[in-house]
Amino acid sequence: MRLILFGPPGAGKGTQAQRLAERHSIPQLSTGDMLRAAVTNDTETGRRAKAIMDRGELVPDDLVNQMVSDRIDQEDCRKGFILDGFPRTVAQAEALTAMLEQKGDKIDAVIELKVEQASLITRMEKRVADTLAAGGTARRDDNRDTFARRLDEYQHKTAPLLNYYRRRGELVSIDGMQGMDVVTRDIENVLTT
Ligand code: AMP
Repeated sequence: MRLILFGPPGAGKGTQAQRLAERHSIPQLSTGDMLRAAVTNDTETGRRAKAIMDRGELVPDDLVNQMVSDRIDQEDCRKGFILDGFPRTVAQAEALTAMLEQKGDKIDAVIELKVEQASLITRMEKRVADTLAAGGTARRDDNRDTFARRLDEYQHKTAPLLNYYRRRGELVSIDGMQGMDVVTRDIENVLTT
């Protein structure tokens, strides 16, 4: 199963992707996590991405496309994967379609988590509080100013992708304002129909 989880920052993509990955025994491919790991490990990709991520902007398409292409070539992705945070631009979506076509594969479902804009900031702040309470370190881009920029990038560059997938008849929207378990159930229902 090859799945794209789509939605603005704070919509719950990461949580849902993690649950689905466990249930279906396929990897969760979060480009945000991959990029954060690259920054921590001070790789060339990390060095290119760091300042851009700190500003809350999208890193260049070529960089993320290459990262995803390398990742889906790995053995553990053979049975499928859940993309969390990719694609984020029309150019990335087109690159993904081409990558999969080359392998004779395609995406099975594109699921949009719809969440009201007003609750996104509250969710981000809760994520920070929970992380700190658990003794962890908050994400550098989880602060009000950078989050506003991330929302803006989503509206301008990522939301237009909804039409790309709608036109292809692949988009299913789910009410992400519901409780986490209900959202998981709704996603599972989509996957089994
Ligand atoms: P996320 O963890 O998905 O919220 O991503 C954190 C940051 O990583 C984003 O604000 C971007 O700077 C960068 N990023 C993650 N995925 C992508 C992507 N598909 N395209 C461009 N930038 C990305």
